Amino acid sequence: MQFIDLKAQQALIEKPLKKRIETVLAHGKYIMGPEIFELEEKLAGYCGVKHCVCCSSGTDALLLALMAYNIGPGDAIFTTPFTFIATAEVISLLGATPVFVDIDKETFTIDPHKLNEAIAGVKSGQAPSPGASGNLKPKGIIPVDIFGLPADYDGIEEIARQHDQFVLEDACQSFGAVYKSRKSCGLGDMAATSFFPAKPLGCYGDGGALFLNDDALAEKIRSIRIHGQGSDKYDNVRIGINGRMDTMQAAVLLCKLELFDKELMSRREVAKRYDDGLGGDFTLQTVPDHCVSAWAQYAILSDRRDQILAKLQDAGIPTAIYYPKPLHLQDAFAPLGHAKGDFKVSESIADRIFSVPFHPYLEKEDQQRIIKAVRG
Ligand SMILES: *Cc1c(COP(=O)(O)O)cnc(C)c1O
Repeated sequence: MQFIDLKAQQALIEKPLKKRIETVLAHGKYIMGPEIFELEEKLAGYCGVKHCVCCSSGTDALLLALMAYNIGPGDAIFTTPFTFIATAEVISLLGATPVFVDIDKETFTIDPHKLNEAIAGVKSGQAPSPGASGNLKPKGIIPVDIFGLPADYDGIEEIARQHDQFVLEDACQSFGAVYKSRKSCGLGDMAATSFFPAKPLGCYGDGGALFLNDDALAEKIRSIRIHGQGSDKYDNVRIGINGRMDTMQAAVLLCKLELFDKELMSRREVAKRYDDGLGGDFTLQTVPDHCVSAWAQYAILSDRRDQILAKLQDAGIPTAIYYPKPLHLQDAFAPLGHAKGDFKVSESIADRIFSVPFHPYLEKEDQQRIIKAVRG
C-alpha cells in the first residue's frame, strides 16, 4: 500500500501524456513554450481569476507575491506556525518578520480573532516576539489552507480591510477547494499554489502558480519571474529571480487537469469513508458546511499517536506526521525568540496529529484495513 499512489493515475493518462510530452520534444521550446500560456489560461479560467502566472514552485509563488508587494526589512507578515516551512521562510528570506498567529482548534487554520489582536499589537508598536523589533509595519496576511481546507476568509478579509493589509492565500494544498462558492486560488488578493507531485494537482517535478485579478501586479510578477525583465530579455528593470515553470511540467499538468474534477469527487468519497469509520472516536479536522476541501491530507488526532503509528507500521500501512514541530519552535526561527507555550493550539495539535494514506485511487478494502488498524 502506498501513502499517495501516483502510478494509478499515470496509467489512466498514459496515452495523452506521451502525446503531450512528444509535442514538447518536437517543438523544443523547453522554456516558456506554448504549453505554459495554454496552462495559465486554463488555470485562470478554472479558478475564476483574471491572471494566472505559472512558476517554478509553490515556494517561489509565495516569494514572487511578496516581492511584487515590495516586502522587506521592517515589514510584518502574519501567518500561522502550523504549516510547511515555506510559508514563513519566504518572509524571512526577504528580511521581513514573520508574525505567527495561532490556529483554530477545529479547522487548524488561522484564528481571525487572534489575527486581529496580533495586527493591532504590531500597529501599536509592540514587538510581536522577544527577538523581533518593535515598530514593524504590518503589511499582509498569509492564511494557509491546511490539508486542502480554505481558511476563514470572511473573517480574515474583514480584518484585512480594517487594517489595510493584503491577503495572500497559501493555496499550496488546496487547489480545487471551495469556500462559499468561491474557488480556492480566488480567495484573498492573491493566491499561491504548488504542483509538487504529492499535492492535489501535481506535476512530475517542481511547479507552482500565482493567481490574481490586479493587472499591474500581474505584469510585475511576470517580470520578476524572469530576472526582472523589461521590454526584452536583456532589458532588466528590477531585481527578479529565475522563477519559471518548465514547459514539460506544463504539458503534464494540462494532461492531469482533464482528470482533476473526477479525482476531486473521488477524494471526497475517500474522505467520507474515513469520516464514517473514524468519526466519533477520533478528533478529525472540521470541514465547515460552506467549504469543500481538496483533501490534500487526511489527518487524525489521538493522544495515543505513538502506539497507533507503531501498530500501522506493523500492518504495513504507511503514515506521516504533518507537522510534528510548529514553525515557532524550529531552529530556523530561533532569532524570533519564541518558546514552547507561545502557540498552544498549534503545539497541542502537532503533538497528536498523524496522516493516513490518502489519494483518489485508494481501494475500499485497503481503507477498511486502515480504519481497523487505527481503531485497534
Ligand atoms: C507544499 C507547500 C508549499 C511549498 O510548495 P513547493 O512547491 O514545495 O515549493 C508552501 N506552503 C504549503 C502550505 C505547502 O504545503
